[in-house]
Amino acid sequence: MTENPFFADWGTPFGIPPFDQIRPEHFPPAFDRGMEEQIAEIAAIVASPAPPGFADTIEALERSGRLLDRVNRVFSNLDSSDTNPALEAIARDYAPKLAQHQMRIALDPGLFARIDDLYARRGNLELAEDQMRLLERRHLRFVRAGALLSPDQKARMGAISERLATLHTLFGQNVLHDEREWRLVLDEADLEGLPGFARAAAAQAAAERELPGRYVVTLARSSIEPFLTFSSRRDLRRIAHEAWTARGTHPGDADNTPLIREIMALRGEQARLLGYDTFAAYRLDDSMAKTTDAVERLLLEVWDPAKQKARGERAALERLARAEGLNEPLEPWDWRYYAEKVRHAQYDLDEAEVKPYFVLDNMVAAAFDTAGHLFGLTFTARGDLPAYHPDVRVWEVRDQAGAHVGLFLHDNFARPGKHSGAWSSRFRDQQDLDGPVTPIVVNNNNFSKSDSAGGEPTLLSFDDAETLFHEFGHGLHTLLSRVRYPSQSGTAVRRDFVEFPSQIFEHWMSVPENLRKYARHYQTGEGIPETLMGRLLAARTFNEGFATVEYTASALIDLELHRDPHPERLDPDRFEREFLATYGVPREIGLRHRPAHFQHLFAGGGYAAGYYAYLWAEVLDADGFAAFTDAGDVFDPALGERLKDIYSAGDTRDPMELYRAFRGRDPEIAALLRQRGLAETQ
Ligand SMILES: [Zn+2]
Repeated sequence: MTENPFFADWGTPFGIPPFDQIRPEHFPPAFDRGMEEQIAEIAAIVASPAPPGFADTIEALERSGRLLDRVNRVFSNLDSSDTNPALEAIARDYAPKLAQHQMRIALDPGLFARIDDLYARRGNLELAEDQMRLLERRHLRFVRAGALLSPDQKARMGAISERLATLHTLFGQNVLHDEREWRLVLDEADLEGLPGFARAAAAQAAAERELPGRYVVTLARSSIEPFLTFSSRRDLRRIAHEAWTARGTHPGDADNTPLIREIMALRGEQARLLGYDTFAAYRLDDSMAKTTDAVERLLLEVWDPAKQKARGERAALERLARAEGLNEPLEPWDWRYYAEKVRHAQYDLDEAEVKPYFVLDNMVAAAFDTAGHLFGLTFTARGDLPAYHPDVRVWEVRDQAGAHVGLFLHDNFARPGKHSGAWSSRFRDQQDLDGPVTPIVVNNNNFSKSDSAGGEPTLLSFDDAETLFHEFGHGLHTLLSRVRYPSQSGTAVRRDFVEFPSQIFEHWMSVPENLRKYARHYQTGEGIPETLMGRLLAARTFNEGFATVEYTASALIDLELHRDPHPERLDPDRFEREFLATYGVPREIGLRHRPAHFQHLFAGGGYAAGYYAYLWAEVLDADGFAAFTDAGDVFDPALGERLKDIYSAGDTRDPMELYRAFRGRDPEIAALLRQRGLAETQ
């Protein structure tokens, strides 16, 4: 038994975890000791005989739990990016223990009494701006967790939270159950219209299910969406679409309808305990949007133009469908299929023609170069530093003066043991409470790795390349952070602001300045032809009516559900029917997520009354990027400098104040409407 690395000084360059020494059995004792240490630290704060001061209460709280934080970050990153049965077992064991630990601190009456006392005297404490905000936000977080309630009410809050955690887990498992149970088994003759990559995926899915020689379509988005887009078998598209939209609705053990009713009732009760009429009012009170009215205004501003654009799209789809002999109304299982054909006809775009120009390494270079132009950063490969998997590349980040900024780990490939999707995370946050601590960032993607033995580079789709830039934008938010306190660092901002730095950075992927330089053919090295680039950029607003209706309808039903003052009387089926009728949701489009499988809302609480946040941030990113195009230089140095201030500020200032300081005015929605092709319909 070697020494547990979590109990030793790492002594590694820039504090990178010693991945080669960390083994699963090191985590449980490190978690246990980390929690014990923090409980002792909190007890010492509470036991202090002196009247509470900012340093011995708020700053002491910021210093607490360092070991736990270090263990937790290494663990959660490895469990997401490179997991195994041993880590998964530890996750099941420690998730409830860690939740209980957090609740114990959040509802500690002695700790809250000190914070509340400081808060009451905050005007006389001579605090700096970041300290004042830290105190106010800390206080608010305790209050929103239930610190002001009576002991009975606190007990009820705890019981509700516990029950909600169980219901959220069951909800997600039911969706997974329906996705696992259903499969569409096909023969060669049923594959009409499917391109090579979709056939190969269906064959692979069949092989995994021991159905050699056959083909299987599943309800995973990566399986069913290509099928609905390319299959010319309308009968099969219908079967697949009906199964997809029925997830979570089947009567029996995996029915999510009763869970929705109970979750909504408990959320309503929790909101009322905390003094709010509805859960949406509670949730939005601590957001940029602030009120349900503000969210509704934004969604409705997009809703009618989106429906109007979708009507135009439907007409084009119907013309093509008629020409191809369809004499019935367009159905939801037809939209993707005919939209792809119209796209091909109108823009002459073919994935196979585009991909060779998007080499992964070139797109990474484009992202780094953009960060150099805008923020003065440089990236140097550090193959000498340890990583947790051979595919992970480690980069050292420096500023224009050559000073070390942080480390950036890039983990781009799909593999077993890695969760799907794309995300940005951290092994260490920037802070400067007791001297400078530099950040260690990791970006995860799930690109299919090329056959590296053959020496072929990995090629990306246009969407993949945008995802790469999106996560890198989050990464820059962490890297550029310049704050004093850990809990204000980098991405620790409100949920409806956190997508701004990532979404605005996406814009630079497709600027002609970058495409001309970095979109080069992987074999010939030639730059992307101007005509192809033109067709690519022209097609960007194609089918945006559909996409906007599909997204916005789901954001609206989220809002309507959570602002219902009597959620305990909810009948989910009737609610959905009435919602679709009231808002006039086009029947050929429907909801991106129906309530019975809306995991953002019910498989966890994070996005409940919060699904609007993507669109909220898009108002800012579209309006913010327009400042660069208006200036006539997408790398305008003065604008870059002001944008950098947003990335650097973390949660030390109000997000709207930060935005105004960058833009010189409040955000306007016009750029978003243009970006989605909705402006001309008004
Ligand atoms: Zn994001």
